[in-house]
Amino acid sequence: MANRSDFPWPNGCHGTVSLTFDDGSQSQLDIAIPILKAYDLLGTFYINPRGEDWQQKLQPWRGVALAGHEVGNHTIQHICSRNFGWGRAKTLEDITLEEIETDVVEAERRLQALIPEQPVRTFCYPCYQSYVGEGPTRQSYVPVIARHFPAARGMGEAANHPELTDLHYLSASVVAGWMSGSDLCGLAAVAPEQSRWMILAFHSLQQEPSSGRHLGATYHGSALPADSFRELCEYLARHRDQIWTAPVVTVAQEIIAWRQDRRT
Ligand SMILES: [Zn+2]
Repeated sequence: MANRSDFPWPNGCHGTVSLTFDDGSQSQLDIAIPILKAYDLLGTFYINPRGEDWQQKLQPWRGVALAGHEVGNHTIQHICSRNFGWGRAKTLEDITLEEIETDVVEAERRLQALIPEQPVRTFCYPCYQSYVGEGPTRQSYVPVIARHFPAARGMGEAANHPELTDLHYLSASVVAGWMSGSDLCGLAAVAPEQSRWMILAFHSLQQEPSSGRHLGATYHGSALPADSFRELCEYLARHRDQIWTAPVVTVAQEIIAWRQDRRT
């Protein structure tokens, strides 16, 4: 087993977990935030400051940030692959690096205006996709994001190694609505087992219990029952001495400082 001092996790913790939430749904405000508060945990909420009335609509998220959670940048337009067939005006295949940068920078300007107390935040790739163009013209927009943020969350199987991971395309496990509390605890347990940073990506939650695991259930198709989420939070609180649970920006800043220390 590796020497624990080889890792940046504070207070002798063996691994790190970040709880992240995409798209700013009402159920996150109604269900996730009170449960996190009950267990004294902080999360990262990636929101889209869109529409004429974005400032008014996003007021609850200002309160979330002031409670210590990270409110992250998830772009304004949430542009994804054409292949979803959503019939939206814009798709990643059709836009340029300049267009995505303009969107992200304007989203950031709005979030700074909403929450001047939180000057640094991380980014989350809509639909976990980090490219523009297609085929011979396809190119990564990760370098664009790296110019503006200390870190960014994508999706991937392996939990993040503090030295080896690309901070601007962090791996995350997507939480499906059918997952039980013990499924979620099993994912979180990977962090101390492997001395890694496990990021979980949540979407909607629901008060009702799950209707069970069923074939064809999609990640976005069903909301996660509150009881499953509560069981995970209870587990993280109980294992606080082994697992450091913190917002993405907090962990990323810790890793950046640790990497710099190791180089000098
Ligand atoms: Zn999204």
